[in-house]
Amino acid sequence: MSRRRFLKNLGLAGAGLAINPLKSAAQPTNLTPPIKNNPLVISTWIHGMEANAGAWEILGNGGDALDAVNKGVAVTENDLTNRSVGLGGRPDRDGYVTLDACIMDHDSRCGAVAFLEEIIHPIDVARAIMEKTPHVMLVGEGAQQWALENGFTKAKFEVPVPPVQKEFEEWRIKSEYKTGVNVENHDTIGMLALDASGRMAGACTTSGMAYKVRGRVGDSPIIGAGLFIDGDVGGATATGVGEAMIRTAGSASVVESMRRGASPEEACYDIVQRILKKHPGVNEMQVGFLAMNVLGEVGGYSVYDGFNYALRSKEENKMVNAKYFRTWE
Ligand code: ASP
Repeated sequence: MSRRRFLKNLGLAGAGLAINPLKSAAQPTNLTPPIKNNPLVISTWIHGMEANAGAWEILGNGGDALDAVNKGVAVTENDLTNRSVGLGGRPDRDGYVTLDACIMDHDSRCGAVAFLEEIIHPIDVARAIMEKTPHVMLVGEGAQQWALENGFTKAKFEVPVPPVQKEFEEWRIKSEYKTGVNVENHDTIGMLALDASGRMAGACTTSGMAYKVRGRVGDSPIIGAGLFIDGDVGGATATGVGEAMIRTAGSASVVESMRRGASPEEACYDIVQRILKKHPGVNEMQVGFLAMNVLGEVGGYSVYDGFNYALRSKEENKMVNAKYFRTWE
């Protein structure tokens, strides 16, 4: 159903393009989003409930999707009890908390920052990079320097925060680092929003995998991997072992599947299946995708059970369990 209806709304169904992805991909895509006055926001994991509440303060008042996702994920970055987003997150294996974030709007404007230290809101830095520079991404020391020159300040508290430092010191005794395993050491926030004027935006922010190799950057700040938005089609975001999303240009692939008529859930299913195919014999690797199209249809899919997302609209404010391929043994 959704495939036909989606194509119909995009004005493609009559042209018979639903059955020919190559032709479909070649079509011009300057299509007006058909859904208005029906704002909607979705975001990964349980912390998405509070983040959505932040976004809703803007969306519910007719505000802009870009402002909404920016404000929404900043709520999670602000929460120093969150161990996978912001400066309350777990450090790399050398004891430094390094943050990754990106933001993208309806018109494909985007900004990203990676390997950033000591700044509370990497999402604000990503947005400022988008708005004030001709670039998309800054990293590491250079990103911090640019941020400090542009009005950001260093956090005035200890990082890692004391309970995280304690946990790190315990971990350091054995220093067990398993890149392939991502059971408890993840939970990026990725958020997608559609505002009342039918415009979309997305944001993604994380402290990355706990105890990662210093300098490691995952998918979350990589446009096309951890986040992708095309205002003509929809958006996608990801969480889990970021290397898998980078290898497959995961979020961009989801949006391209939707462009060819897949529903958000079908598109997420496809990419997770592709990731599994590219990682034969790899177990305990969690990867979850979340997508929304410009009709306001949403869906998610993950490798393992347990991936869920928060959804807020005029009518609903709830958690949704995504479908999955495998269960944890
Ligand atoms: N995707 C993030 C990363 O690889 C972590 C996560 O979402 O669990 O850095």
